[in-house]
Amino acid sequence: MSAWFDYWNDLGPLGDFLLPRTITDADFRLDDPVAKIFYNGVWNWPVAWRDLFPVLIQLDHLHLEPSKPDRLLWKDDGEINEFSSSAVWHSVRHREPEVDWCSFVWFAQCIPRHAFMMWLIMKGKLLTQDKILQWDLSRRKNMNMMCCLLCYENFDSHSHLFFKCKFSSQVWLMVRNRVGMSFVCPRWVDIVDWLRVRARSKKAHVYVAMILVAATAYSIWQERNARLFENQLRPPKTVSDIILKTVRYKLMGAKLKNTDRVRKLLGEWEITKESENDGG
Ligand SMILES: [Zn+2]
Repeated sequence: MSAWFDYWNDLGPLGDFLLPRTITDADFRLDDPVAKIFYNGVWNWPVAWRDLFPVLIQLDHLHLEPSKPDRLLWKDDGEINEFSSSAVWHSVRHREPEVDWCSFVWFAQCIPRHAFMMWLIMKGKLLTQDKILQWDLSRRKNMNMMCCLLCYENFDSHSHLFFKCKFSSQVWLMVRNRVGMSFVCPRWVDIVDWLRVRARSKKAHVYVAMILVAATAYSIWQERNARLFENQLRPPKTVSDIILKTVRYKLMGAKLKNTDRVRKLLGEWEITKESENDGG
């Protein structure tokens, strides 16, 4: 088992944050097994690594049996067993317990790229600067990289972007009243709670709210990346206009029941549906 590129601990592959250069500079080989880096009951890496990569300290609690060759194991639901293809099959065929936010992340007639963004945010998987810094301390010298490029007032992180940031919260305040969320603060937990209790209802206004929240999250991340990579700056009003336009465009093509209530809702978005949808 590769010491650098396999999953054998809770941190994930060490190669995610140790550069090949760092590994070889410490006189390790890139194809070293775990048994090579844990020897005589201690980690063999340079002491300096513990300062450079403090996450490694978390491995101190791992009790590996010294001087045994690596073995391939399979971890399933906290239980660790010998690796066998049947064990793997049994664990992957069980479906993961459904998380309670699935219904407002992946839903019928969602915008897939927005849904994917929602999923990344719910999992805390966006590559924000606070994440990168955990791995790469050399970047700490570069303060610009750490700063939120939307407001220049705080660090770039999930909780900041959604929506503690002055820029993001302004955008949210401009769009929320279009979907009956006027009282929902620009805080991710509040927005998620609002969606969570309503997501399973098939009501059109909830559908529109789910589309709008995802479009907002997506557009904030887009703007952040546009500033980071393309040096393109748009004010909150422009971003909120894009969000509303996206929602409206989606609603024009969405298949919704043709009821008075839906027609009224579409009217609020200046959409008039032909009567062809009501089946005659
Ligand atoms: Zn900000």
